[in-house]
Amino acid sequence: MSLEDRRVLIAGGGPVGLLCAWLLGRRGIPVRLFDENDGPQADPRAATTHPATLELLSEDGLAEDMARVGLRAPIFQFWDRPTGELVAQFDHAALKNDTPYPYVVQCEQFKTAKLILERLRGFAHVEVMFGHAVIDVRQADDRVSADVRGPAGLATHAGAYLIGADGGRSTVRKQCGIAFEGFTWPERFIVLTTPYDFEAQRGYCYRSYFADPGAWCNCFKVSAEGPPGLWRTVFPAEAAETDDEVLSDAGVQARLQKFFPSPQPYPVVHRNLYVTHQRVAARFRQGRILLAGDAAHVNNPIGGMGLNGGIQDAANLCDKLARIILGGESGRLLDLYDRQRRSVAVEFVQEQSIANKKRLEAADPQLRKRNLDELRQIAADPERARQFMLRTSMLLSQRRAERIALEDA
Ligand SMILES: Cc1cc2nc3c(=O)[nH]c(=O)nc-3n(C[C@H](O)[C@H](O)[C@H](O)COP(=O)(O)OP(=O)(O)OC[C@H]3O[C@@H](n4cnc5c(N)ncnc54)[C@H](O)[C@@H]3O)c2cc1C
Repeated sequence: MSLEDRRVLIAGGGPVGLLCAWLLGRRGIPVRLFDENDGPQADPRAATTHPATLELLSEDGLAEDMARVGLRAPIFQFWDRPTGELVAQFDHAALKNDTPYPYVVQCEQFKTAKLILERLRGFAHVEVMFGHAVIDVRQADDRVSADVRGPAGLATHAGAYLIGADGGRSTVRKQCGIAFEGFTWPERFIVLTTPYDFEAQRGYCYRSYFADPGAWCNCFKVSAEGPPGLWRTVFPAEAAETDDEVLSDAGVQARLQKFFPSPQPYPVVHRNLYVTHQRVAARFRQGRILLAGDAAHVNNPIGGMGLNGGIQDAANLCDKLARIILGGESGRLLDLYDRQRRSVAVEFVQEQSIANKKRLEAADPQLRKRNLDELRQIAADPERARQFMLRTSMLLSQRRAERIALEDA
């Protein structure tokens, strides 16, 4: 069998594309990955990596390396902004019999990407081509091809399969004519990063969620170049506010001061604004072309599930591609990838991330009270708290995916 008959092409070298390259490369499958950027991007996006995902990253100690360059966060809290009350606290230790990783690891996604890139250096059969943009994809019965623009001009590359891991605006998805079903939130999300120590000064843990009528805040710690590390706060920015207003010093301080009043202005080292969507691709598979990560599904970041879902896609897909390419199993196995991962994206990640946002921003006093009372009651009941965390840690969604495979067998 020629190299091209086995090679997997990957569009996108974000964490999901790189992980696919590593998972396939580890099994000896030739890979050629293209990314239009010059290297991993350092903007402040994913950090929270849930237990279900850590389980998938245990190969070659990757999960442990992420914890080493990041932070372990076993606890998360819900606070009520108007009263300043700690409403509920959850400790992943309750999952000690459910997972070998009863904690979350806060590891910035560019660090995860770099850890994978280091591992890829040892693989001569994996080519990582930064500065190369995929502009078109095609397929025949037995192969795929991609037109790629790089520093030396346009070239066509051929392979057996192609993974579109090229993010929310995926060219691969668009070239395949696959609809991205869902909606876009009218408000944008602003991330403000500060060295202010919310743990020492206010007693917040590394993952704290704040409810506020018509608004919300996520406050979490990342290790950055630390110790001591940095804190990221995420807030909604109303559609009526211009980007300049939201990002101005006055706008930034007003947002922080509303949630966390302080006599001193906050030092803010980064400010980033994101448009946020809830969308899932109508199909994750089109013949020999597969979608994974943000190319397949996007959601709001409350609960930190987007990249987790993407990593879970990568693990599921690469296992199946290896069974087909190396084990001679039928390509129909890829339909199961679509069923498993698309079902989970719709039934769990979309549902949960929307519910997380609605719970925090509820404005109706009775609904707010109900939401906060429910959190108190769940936290006070060990078995209900465990069930709640099985869902938030994404262990439940992984079990659902496994059940779909059993139904299929
Ligand atoms: C504020 C914020 C906080 C978040 N926090 C979390 C969190 O805590 N936990 C979590 O799980 N998720 C979180 N997310 C979501 C997470 O950032 C994304 O799910 C994640 O980046 C998806 O990874 P990816 O590799 O699929 O796509 P991306 O990271 O978008 O990577 C796509 C790559 O494809 C490349 N590319 C694009 N088009 C082409 C092309 N035509 N040719 C070649 N290359 C191309 C790009 O250069 C990029 O490198 C957060 C998101 C935001 C905005």
